[in-house]
Amino acid sequence: MIRRFIKKVFGKSAASKADSGPRIIPVEVHGIRREQIHSCALKTTRALKEAGYSAFVVGGAVRDLLLGREPKDFDVATDALPEQVRQVFRRSRLIGRRFQIVHVYCGADTIEVTTYRAASLPKEDESDEDDDARVTAEDGMLLRDNVFGNQAEDAERRDFTVNALYYDPETEEVWEWHGGVEDAKKKVLRIIGDPIQRFREDPVRMLRAARFAAKLDFHIDPATRAPIAELASMLERIPSARLFDEMMKLLLSGHAERGVRQLRAEGLHHGILPMLDTILDDPERQKFLHVALHDTDERVRQGHSASPAFMLACLLWFDMQGELKRNRNSGQSDQSALYDAMDAVLERQRRVLAFPRRFDGTIKEIWSLQSRFEQRSGARPFRLLSHPRFRAGYDFLLIRAKGEDAAQELADWWTRFPDANDNEREAMLIKPQAGEGKTKRRKRGPRKPAGESAIEVKLG
Ligand code: ATP
Ligand code: MG
Repeated sequence: MIRRFIKKVFGKSAASKADSGPRIIPVEVHGIRREQIHSCALKTTRALKEAGYSAFVVGGAVRDLLLGREPKDFDVATDALPEQVRQVFRRSRLIGRRFQIVHVYCGADTIEVTTYRAASLPKEDESDEDDDARVTAEDGMLLRDNVFGNQAEDAERRDFTVNALYYDPETEEVWEWHGGVEDAKKKVLRIIGDPIQRFREDPVRMLRAARFAAKLDFHIDPATRAPIAELASMLERIPSARLFDEMMKLLLSGHAERGVRQLRAEGLHHGILPMLDTILDDPERQKFLHVALHDTDERVRQGHSASPAFMLACLLWFDMQGELKRNRNSGQSDQSALYDAMDAVLERQRRVLAFPRRFDGTIKEIWSLQSRFEQRSGARPFRLLSHPRFRAGYDFLLIRAKGEDAAQELADWWTRFPDANDNEREAMLIKPQAGEGKTKRRKRGPRKPAGESAIEVKLG
């Protein structure tokens, strides 16, 4: 009881760090200028300071600026409690349960404000937890983390040294507690504290290690890397929605290609993207995936958005093909073989990565359009042009062609056809051979609407 009281008042561990204080690095050394900080983050730190709190820009933004990269977003860390942050900003909202944060809004921008967290509890202290602010599972996994502390402790519970840098826009100083500036210079991704304990607390940190190593072009420090292969299976315990979010960050970061290879190199893909084994071991499939990831990375780097549904369509394409073939071989009609294959593959994948059901329509359309591109006679190509997913289906076809999974001639044809004039289009249409293209009259049942592929799928 008394111990808990002392802990609450003075903070728990990090005593030695707190005693020695942070290393304060002046702007002449790190080079990050106030002007590089988003105005919304500047306003947020200023307002918190004026209200009497400590406030720093923290995390990925400081790391990226230090490395001369453009930050994706700006996060702020403070000693103000979430409710106190709410009181400082009229336009703000408390979000999260597992990990409470406050969103501060200015214009269309949002700044995430986190209150300093207390560091991980030493093992013997865990029995002291009697409230539900921090909940730890038996295997050490942190289920909730809303125990607040000081900056020293906050730095200690962050994941990697380069992610534990605090920038004060007022003084333009960087405060570091774990050597992050030096590690950034050496391009080393190093976890803070004991790697096994930190990965057990939150296995998603292993995925983050792969993601940051790929994104920053860092190498993972050997001691950090060592336990990953053994602990990888802990990812099975992570809710599939969180895994999906983390995987999308990796796939849509502009560094998907390196990220996916890093995942596999660390053995982290088993429960998440099991198809990587069969794709990356097969030179032909590997080529398709390489093109898909490379093209997506290019798009993102050029400032375009990339669609998660498109990415999933690429990753699951061969699984779907395999399933389709099996269904056909077992005597199913083309259409039901395709329906069942698509459903089976999406459901199987959803068990490990909970991607939203609204993606299913797009993925299925991209897949089912592929056979329609083969049909280049009569009215069919014209109808295909007005299909709402024509563009996504066509982009997918281009990747297949570059990845040697479809004929380049077919992709080129579909590149020319939409822009050709009426005469040119007419000339481009492939004339049915004698006897071909005549529909046999059905004896029974309704006629299939003209122009629809045998395996086209109607999507609701
Ligand atoms: P990105 O550029 O992808 O946004 P980031 O480092 O900002 O990278 P965020 O997920 O936005 O990553 O998290 C912000 C900061 O919060 C991190 O830099 C890190 O200090 C801390 N953090 C995030 N997730 C974890 C985690 N699972 N364990 C420990 N610290 C974390
Ligand atoms: Mg961030």
